[in-house]
Amino acid sequence: MRPITEQQLRRSFVNCSRGEADAMTLPRTFAATPCDELVVLGWRDPEAPLRGYLVVERDGQPVGVAVRAADTRMSSATPAMCPLCQTAQSGSDVSLFTARRKGDAGRDGNTVGTYICADLACAIRARTEIPPWLRERDPDEVAAERTAELEQRVRGFLDAVLR
Ligand SMILES: [Zn+2]
Repeated sequence: MRPITEQQLRRSFVNCSRGEADAMTLPRTFAATPCDELVVLGWRDPEAPLRGYLVVERDGQPVGVAVRAADTRMSSATPAMCPLCQTAQSGSDVSLFTARRKGDAGRDGNTVGTYICADLACAIRARTEIPPWLRERDPDEVAAERTAELEQRVRGFLDAVLR
């Protein structure tokens, strides 16, 4: 992603009100976020434990989606995989998130759900947590592929929110 200001970030959200976007808490490390190394910015709201945010570029513009984590979690003994970054983790590190759909549909209570890494840090994991069966290949090439796939899947989720 291109570097983004706090105001651009808050204005990028498609499925929450201005008031909600202004009230969200940015990651504490926002100013130091290496945007150019990440295809998706994702974080949990430090002040509102079940809320989280994903921002991805689309047609050159940042587009943000506010999500809400289910308050139940899978057991840490259950193996799980994040469908966005395709990283295998314990069940307690992957959470079901729902996003209100854009516009009237969302106001009527329509949501879209998906499992995602509980900390929403998929973009970092796609680059750094290479599955064993891909470790014989060039790590930079694998990270680039995993990152491109993650971006496509997050855009797919975004399409469902915008539909
Ligand atoms: Zn993930």
